[in-house]
Amino acid sequence: MTRVYISLILLSLLYGCSSITDFMTLDKDDSNTSAQSKKISTTEAKEAPVAEPVKVQKVVKKPLWDKKLPQNQVVSNYCKKIEKKFRHWGWGYSRCMNIKWNNVRKSHLGDPLIWTVYGSEELQKSSNPKDMTLILCGVHGDEITPIKFCFDIIHHLEKVVNGHLPGHEELEDKLVVVAPIVTPDSFFKRRPTRTNARGVDVNRNFPTKDWNRDALRLWKTRYRSDKRRYPGERPLSEQETIFQVNLIKRYNPSKIITVHAPLSILDYDGPEFHSHNHDGAQIVVPNAQELLIQMSKMANGYKIKNYPFFPGSLGNYAGNERNIPTYTLELPTSDNRKHKKYWATFKDAIHSAILHDMKKEVEVATLPDEDDVSTN
Ligand SMILES: [Zn+2]
Repeated sequence: MTRVYISLILLSLLYGCSSITDFMTLDKDDSNTSAQSKKISTTEAKEAPVAEPVKVQKVVKKPLWDKKLPQNQVVSNYCKKIEKKFRHWGWGYSRCMNIKWNNVRKSHLGDPLIWTVYGSEELQKSSNPKDMTLILCGVHGDEITPIKFCFDIIHHLEKVVNGHLPGHEELEDKLVVVAPIVTPDSFFKRRPTRTNARGVDVNRNFPTKDWNRDALRLWKTRYRSDKRRYPGERPLSEQETIFQVNLIKRYNPSKIITVHAPLSILDYDGPEFHSHNHDGAQIVVPNAQELLIQMSKMANGYKIKNYPFFPGSLGNYAGNERNIPTYTLELPTSDNRKHKKYWATFKDAIHSAILHDMKKEVEVATLPDEDDVSTN
């Protein structure tokens, strides 16, 4: 048994701490790589000598949540408001004051629209930009548990960058932006709503090419003027939509993950996995497909479903029109009590999605047939 254990550790050291198995095994504050390496070096010396010495980078843990960061007054007040809401929903500490926020614009009712960045923004502007992941939560304010989910992602990233979880080096090669509460006005209502303070469904307000022709027409006919799906008077009329469009323009994401509830599906919008260019040659986006399948597998085979996009939706704007692979994770419910369960289910999928390099080349021959992808 010990032998098997040692071999396993040796294997994981040889391959680095990148695999998700390592990530799961080490997801405890008390386990760190240096302790394990010590164990190996002494035991291995007595048994079989290792041909090539394995260099193990010592993980230096930096203190977590050790100080409140200087926030401007608006963000500081907002953090207090978030902390109070977290207590109300039984979610523990948001750690809002310990997170480095960016803020440019405000919601209609005056709350700051905030986002946080992991990685260097400067390198993103270079000729060889990094793989960039944009994560959005709380686009619909009544889907409250996705908001906690984004804070779980932020807490997870803080642990990784401070050496409390593996993946630090891989993350250095990436840029991650998380906007946890896209539509605060609806989230902070006594009874949270899907639409924003001006009664607009922010996910129908993106300036897509079909907006002027279809958005209001379909809303009136197909959706019988359902107030929950009102696309607005005109595209991009809402601060929350401008906020998301500006994040996309500023960071030029390689992929977008947007978290909603309660459809219990993983939906993909973006470039076709198999398509043809003008010369008839096949264009393949293997990485986008690989990630979709990988995310589903890592979440106990979570259902992949091709949900349609709409005039003015993010999937249409970013995925369909801009070819940015856009993954919509629909959690099973908005039940505030299930936040821990959902994070436990999707943690590995999110971690690997962030580290999944969309630019890396994948052998086309290794792609499964289209039939293998469940779309129901
Ligand atoms: Zn939603």
